[in-house]
Amino acid sequence: MLWRSPTTGPQPGGMKTIGMLGGMSWESTALYYRLANELIRDRFGGLASADLLVRSVDFAPVRELQLQDRWDEAAGLLLREAKALEAAGADLLVLCTNYMHKTAPVLEAGLGVPFLHIADVAARAAGALGATRVGLIGAAGTMAEPFYAERVGRHGIDVVVPGDADRQRLERAIFDELCQGVLSAGTRTDLRRILAGLVGQGAEAVVLGCTELELLLGAEDCAVPLLPTARLHVRAAVEAALA
Ligand code: GLU
Repeated sequence: MLWRSPTTGPQPGGMKTIGMLGGMSWESTALYYRLANELIRDRFGGLASADLLVRSVDFAPVRELQLQDRWDEAAGLLLREAKALEAAGADLLVLCTNYMHKTAPVLEAGLGVPFLHIADVAARAAGALGATRVGLIGAAGTMAEPFYAERVGRHGIDVVVPGDADRQRLERAIFDELCQGVLSAGTRTDLRRILAGLVGQGAEAVVLGCTELELLLGAEDCAVPLLPTARLHVRAAVEAALA
């Protein structure tokens, strides 16, 4: 009898461990987990699956820190959790939320392993489409504050966002519905109208800058390409893990 070693998955040590800092919300972290494993299975077949460390925090106190504008504490919390993932063996790190990338400078400065910034990933995907102006929808702060648009701008891409009333509509859709597992046809209709407004402002693609939005929206909801940040982020992480 001939015993063969498995020929499908990468050789031991050939795949890096991806650290996922999530739970914000777990609805999208579950998507990250599934997508990473599917990408590895599609690539290698058989029983191959992603090498992951997933840290899923309780989102309720994190949301309180957002609402109370206690970003230094939020950054401290995420840095502690990220460092724990690094100490546990993560070779690279993804933070599974766009809005919490407001703390990215602290994480980038404090980590010893690569941190894959979600806005860089979105901007590269926009650039690959040849877009020079993108729309951005997400949590109100992601749209209204400079941290995300500036990061996208480093790639030579301009960002347009909805007006204040539509930003508040998105905030409610994200935190009162999508982060709580609620998918509503009425909300989808409202978001389609907001997307059309961004196309009217010259957007050549729209960044779904909240990791839950792609649970509700697909290509058919917009006249220009949508850039699903959870999906793009996971793909970038898996490529980095195999590089
Ligand atoms: N998951 C959402 C995002 O990608 C919002 C949740 C949060 O505030 O972190 O921005």
